[in-house]
Amino acid sequence: MKTEHAYTLIKDATVLTMDPELGMLSNCDILIKGQTVKAIGQNLPAPSDGDIKVIDIPDAIVTPGFVDGHHHMWQQLIRGVAVDWSLFDYAINIRSVYGSVYTAEDAGFAYYVAALDMINNGITSVLEHGHIMNTPQHADASIKGLKDSGIRACFCYGLYENPPISGAPDADKQSFSLAERLADARRVRNTHFQTNDPAKERVTFGLAPTEPDYQPIQETVDQVVAAREIGARLITMHVALGPYDTTHNHIVQQLADRDLLGPDLAFSHGASLTEGEFKAISSTGAGLVSTPDTELQMGMGFPAVFRATDRGCKACLGVDITSNQGNSFVAQMRLALQVQRAQENEIAFPLSIKRKTAEVLRMSTMGGAEVMGLGHLAGSVTVGKKADLNIFRCDDIGTVPVIDPAGTVVFHSSTSNIDTVIIDGRVVKENGQLVGIDWPALKAELVARTERIRQVASKVDLAAAKAQWGPYTVQD
Ligand SMILES: [Zn+2]
Repeated sequence: MKTEHAYTLIKDATVLTMDPELGMLSNCDILIKGQTVKAIGQNLPAPSDGDIKVIDIPDAIVTPGFVDGHHHMWQQLIRGVAVDWSLFDYAINIRSVYGSVYTAEDAGFAYYVAALDMINNGITSVLEHGHIMNTPQHADASIKGLKDSGIRACFCYGLYENPPISGAPDADKQSFSLAERLADARRVRNTHFQTNDPAKERVTFGLAPTEPDYQPIQETVDQVVAAREIGARLITMHVALGPYDTTHNHIVQQLADRDLLGPDLAFSHGASLTEGEFKAISSTGAGLVSTPDTELQMGMGFPAVFRATDRGCKACLGVDITSNQGNSFVAQMRLALQVQRAQENEIAFPLSIKRKTAEVLRMSTMGGAEVMGLGHLAGSVTVGKKADLNIFRCDDIGTVPVIDPAGTVVFHSSTSNIDTVIIDGRVVKENGQLVGIDWPALKAELVARTERIRQVASKVDLAAAKAQWGPYTVQD
């Protein structure tokens, strides 16, 4: 996608750069040329060698775009179904029912709408764990949805097999074995991605192995090796799910023992990681992603993200699923910070609060960029990096007075304060509205697709679905 103007000039903002050399800047301008931040400073002169889009928003606070390290975007069409579910309920209803009744077109549409909703919430990059690859067409459509939306993403092709369900639209096509999925992942890598270099392509390719805690380690090893051979830029997987870590397989340790960890690995959840595993993640440059809402609700333990950063790991936050909560990234920040504070306050009488707001803002921007291998390109407002920015308009009753700008963003802002979002130098949200979107048409399609999905899902035999989840105790 091309930017509309040669230059974009943001005027007179408070900029939380998240660049350690710049810190917070007041009354600051940002000049964007093409996809890149060209200059940062007060009263920047307007260039004369091209047309300029000037953005001058009252009481503006600029942050880098938020980086979401773990998401399953296909679930956007069933938002809210999981609000009272445990992980066991989720496994049955999502992984064995809803995941099997999506058509390829449903998946593509879900990716597109999810990305737009994420952009609306200031998420400019996402590490997508795509476990709805029921047919090759699902993969093609999902990638198209991502590319069309304008978001920056690493699409990790999921090897997980949603079981074919009788009556589902593509049931006859869903004999899609692991070997076929790996072959299809290679096709996808070669068809939809050229260099797979995030400096050159906004959407890149990765791979997500099948659930490692519940399969022999050799299968996970084989999938990690295959991912690298295919050319995956990132490999992401769920591990060490706190109370749900019933198998105690210590996947991270087992991969470390085989010398397979590296900066291309991103582990999600990880509440039951051992000290040795944190050390292995830190020393090899792998990453860890916490998803506070789903982890706290569904029985996956307390978010490990601060334990990870304390131990020198690259670490960040993720939204995980809108089949549960919404796409507000600010909500995940608050939850992560406050639950960490609560845990620490229980241990020692809190005369002072150790965890600062700036820490969670960093892990939501620079931390996420590091986990995604984008630290040199995004995550901070820095000259030479990609222009992925959020502009919060803080002149309303919910935000005035602004005394501590980082505090305003994390503790007082809402989605409606995110006036402008810029990705790759292109304005994708402006004046509080997504740019170029026909919402009534989108809404009508969304409602129709959701209705059909729910109708097919309602006919599925849940007892049979439950029987597939042997590792857990089945309870009604
Ligand atoms: Zn997940």
